[in-house]
Parts: sequence; C-alpha cells; structure tokens
Amino acid sequence: MGEMTKPSTHVIEAGQSGFATTKFNELLAWSRKYSLFQYPFVTACCAMEFMSSMSPRFDLARFGSEAPRFTPRQSDVLWVVGTISQRQAPVLKRVYEQMCDPKWVIAFGTCASSGGFYDNYATLAGIDKVVPVDIYIPGCPPRPEGVMDGLLLLQDKIQKGDRTPRIVKPRHDPAAALTQLRTSRNA
Ligand code: SF4
Repeated sequence: MGEMTKPSTHVIEAGQSGFATTKFNELLAWSRKYSLFQYPFVTACCAMEFMSSMSPRFDLARFGSEAPRFTPRQSDVLWVVGTISQRQAPVLKRVYEQMCDPKWVIAFGTCASSGGFYDNYATLAGIDKVVPVDIYIPGCPPRPEGVMDGLLLLQDKIQKGDRTPRIVKPRHDPAAALTQLRTSRNA
C-alpha cells in the first residue's frame, strides 16, 4: 500500500485574520443561533402568552429554541416575562450574572420592557435598569407572532454579531386599524 499524502495545514496566528477564521466564526454563529437554551424568568400574566408561544401550535422548536434550562449556567437566552418588582430586580441581575457568555436577554411584554402601566415605587421601570436587553417585544401581552419575530430578530443579531438593542415592530399598525374601523363606522 502506498503512503497517504498528509494534507497541508497553515495555522493562523493570533492577530492575523484570514478566510478560514471568518468562515469558522460564521459557522459558530449559525450553530449558536439554532441551539438557544432558554431560561424563563416568569413573574406575571405575560406567562400565559409565553406558554402559548411555546406550545406545538406555534412551535418554537422549529427555530431551535424550545428547550428550557432551569439553571442559568446552562442557558443562552434569558426570557424575562412579566412585571419585575424592585425586590425581584437583584435576583434577576444575579441570574443574568450566573449565565455563561455569550448570553442574550429578551424583554417579553410591555412590563418587562418599560414597567408598563405600573407607574409606582414598587415596580422596576424596565429590566434594562439592571440587565442589558437585546430584544424588546412590546405588547400587553405580546402576540405569539410578535414572540416569533423577536426570536428571529435575535437569531439575525447573533449571526451578524450585532449587540445593538432592537424592538420588535408590530405586523399591523394599530393606528391604521383604528382609522379603518372609524372610517367603516362612518360610512
Ligand atoms: S405586559 Fe400586560 S400581560 Fe404582560 S405582565 Fe404586564 S400587565 Fe401582564
């Protein structure tokens, strides 16, 4: 038997860049965005819609993101679902700090995003007061398609290595729907 030819290799040193490194990073980002283990930090009524979004009807499993982990150390995405009180804020921060890098945060619903209509001393006016947020999903509660849009937006950010906070836009403009309703009533 003849001797097999060894493939030639070139090690890319630190500080150098090249084709292989770029492609590897893209592959890594691609694999990360389709294997997101989630940590649900669920406190209030948004939980009902969160459970609905995770159900087979909407099937977040097809985006590689349905498996919950009830320890922050094994989680990639922190879903903050519901109102956060001032007393809960240090706990939320601790959970975030226990997650390994890279990690992402989704504010699910208006309360998690901004405190919602709770304008009082006991409620945190948005989780970004204590943890960095990647995706804000508006709604009281958000609709399941808004949740899916938020997840797809996060996957897009992971692929691009973009850490800029993003807000999910509604698929339908509520102001336009109201105008249409008024017009049809007056007709
Ligand atoms: S956004 Fe609305 S549904 Fe969600 S926790 Fe706040 S009050 Fe409840």
